[in-house]
Amino acid sequence: MTLLAHRVGKGLEGVFAGEPMLVGTGAFMLELKGKTALVFGVASEESIAWAICEQLSAAGCKLILGFQKRFMSRVFQLKEKLDNIEAFYPIDVETNELTAEFFTEWQNANPGAKADIVIHAIGFAPRPCFDRPVLFVENDPMNTAMTISAHSLQRVMRYALPHLAPNSSTITLTYAASTRWVPNYGVMSIAKAALEAWTRELANHVGPDGHRINAISSGPIKTLAAGGIPGFDDILEHVERNSPLRRNVTQEDVAGCATWLASPLSSGVTGQIIHVDAGYSSIMVPDSISD
Ligand code: NAD
Repeated sequence: MTLLAHRVGKGLEGVFAGEPMLVGTGAFMLELKGKTALVFGVASEESIAWAICEQLSAAGCKLILGFQKRFMSRVFQLKEKLDNIEAFYPIDVETNELTAEFFTEWQNANPGAKADIVIHAIGFAPRPCFDRPVLFVENDPMNTAMTISAHSLQRVMRYALPHLAPNSSTITLTYAASTRWVPNYGVMSIAKAALEAWTRELANHVGPDGHRINAISSGPIKTLAAGGIPGFDDILEHVERNSPLRRNVTQEDVAGCATWLASPLSSGVTGQIIHVDAGYSSIMVPDSISD
C-alpha cells in the first residue's frame, strides 16, 4: 500500500512541478499542506461541509469557516474538533453587505491573505416553497430560495475572486432534481438547475485565469437542510433499495470527491457536475421493478 502510494506520488510530482501530493499513511490521503480553504455551509456535525472540513484538515489544509449567525452556538461547539480551523467569521449570502462582512473581517485579520479552495455548501428554501404546489408558490419565498441556493454562488465568487490564489478550486453542492423530477423538491429543483448553470457560467468566466469551479451532485443524506424536505426518508429508502451500490452515500463519500476536486489531482476538471450518489443517477428502470 505504502509502496503504491509512493509510486503514484512520484509520478504526480513530475506532472505538478515538484508539488508533493500523496502520502503513504496506510490509507491513501491527499496532501494539501500550505493550502487555505474558505468553507461556507457548516451548521452542524451532520453538515456535508463539516465532513469536507474534516478531510481537508486531515490533508493539512487550513480552514476559515463562514457561519450563519443563527447556527453560531452549534458551529462554535465544533471549534475544538479540528486543529486546522484558523478562524470563523459570520456570513449571510442573502445580501451583498452580509456577504462582504465575511471577506472584510477575514482580510482585516489577515491582510492580503489568499484562498486556494472555496466550499459553497449553502442551500435554503423557506417553508412555503414546500407547503404549496409549485404553481402557487409566491414570489418572496421563491426569490429567497433562488438567491440563497443558486445566485449566492455568483455572489460568493465575486467577493472571493480578488483573494483567490492561482489555480484555485471552488466546489458547490447540487442535487439531481436539477434535471429530473423528484417529489416534494419543488422550487429547490429550479434553484439547483440554476446553480448548475452558474457553475458552468462561472467556470468559463474564471477559467482563463486558471481557476476551477465544479459541482458535486450528492445523493440524499440526512442533514438539517434535508430534514425540511417532506418525504425525505422515503427517498432514502428508495435509493438504498435501487441504487447500483444498494446503499445511500454518506457525508464522507461526498467529502472524498470534494477533497479530490480541491486538489491538483483534478487539475483538468472544471464546469462539471459530478454525481456522488451510489450510482443512482445512472439508472432509469430500477431492478426492484421485478419484485
Ligand atoms: P446543512 O443544513 O448542514 O447545510 C446547509 C447550510 O446552508 C447551513 O450551513 C446553512 O447555514 C447554510 N445557509 C443557509 N442559508 C444561508 C445564508 N443565507 N447564508 C449563508 N449560509 C446559509 O445541510 P447539507 O445537506 O449539508 O447542505 C449543504 C448543501 O448540500 C446544500 O446546498 C444542499 O442543497 C446540498 N445537498 C444536500 C443533499 C442532502 O441530501 N443533504 C443532497 C444534495 C445536495
